[in-house]
Amino acid sequence: ANRAFHPDNSIYDIAGRQIGGKDLAIIAGPCSVESESQIIGIAEEVKAAGATFLRGGAYKPRTSPYAFQGLEAEGLELLKIAREKTGLPIVTEIMDPSTLDKFVEDVDVIQVGARNMQNFSLLKLLGQTNKPILLKRGLSSTIEEWIMSAEYIMAGGNNQVILCERGVRTFETYTRNTLDLSAIAAIKKLSHLPIIVDPSHATGLRYMVEPMCMAAIAAGADGLIIEVHNNPPKALCDGPQSVTPNEFKSIVNKAKQFAALA
Ligand code: PEP
Ligand code: MN
Repeated sequence: ANRAFHPDNSIYDIAGRQIGGKDLAIIAGPCSVESESQIIGIAEEVKAAGATFLRGGAYKPRTSPYAFQGLEAEGLELLKIAREKTGLPIVTEIMDPSTLDKFVEDVDVIQVGARNMQNFSLLKLLGQTNKPILLKRGLSSTIEEWIMSAEYIMAGGNNQVILCERGVRTFETYTRNTLDLSAIAAIKKLSHLPIIVDPSHATGLRYMVEPMCMAAIAAGADGLIIEVHNNPPKALCDGPQSVTPNEFKSIVNKAKQFAALA
């Protein structure tokens, strides 16, 4: 992952879209896949607004075992239908090695969530695949630990790692996490890997998503991953941080103008 071995930025071509090149990658969709009409409806709206990838959790890492755990295998099937309808490549989180073959077969970008950033056996297995991996920063992980987790994947021969800053735990409780914008500059100095920013999980607050997107672009991020829901108050997960499709559209328009200047 060290830039010393690879002075140029890494750029990946994923199902006809680039991550790490000059165009901003925009990954959008609900926290969780909830139903066929929900995921297809949101996929169509985010595509029309300019998203380049569709996100949606099928296997969810919930803090409480009594909270909605995701539609699991059915969720993956619904994501495939949404991809078929919209042409958007799909990004979704893997939780368990037992589903690895299915993810390799069905998913365009495999997400490793913050809670699994140091699940080294999972990282080693992902290193044996040929799929791009979106590696989220751990809840309380240092930049060094995060890069070492990318190394676990790359050491197995899979060089397609995308880093995602999603906020870290601090003393502050007003926001869900604290977005570490300086991590973008640090990663750009230390590594050739692309870095994207998740303002949704970083802040936990819908009204902060737009300003943190612009800040991320100004700091040099290669892309954004944004939670979008058609009815946030009724979302089964992360409603308070989800923007509506209309809000998402105005964020994308502004983000593109910002990116042209950055
Ligand atoms: C998510 O992207 O839905 C998610 C659970 O994020 P994180 O792992 O960053 O908490
Ligand atoms: Mn979420």
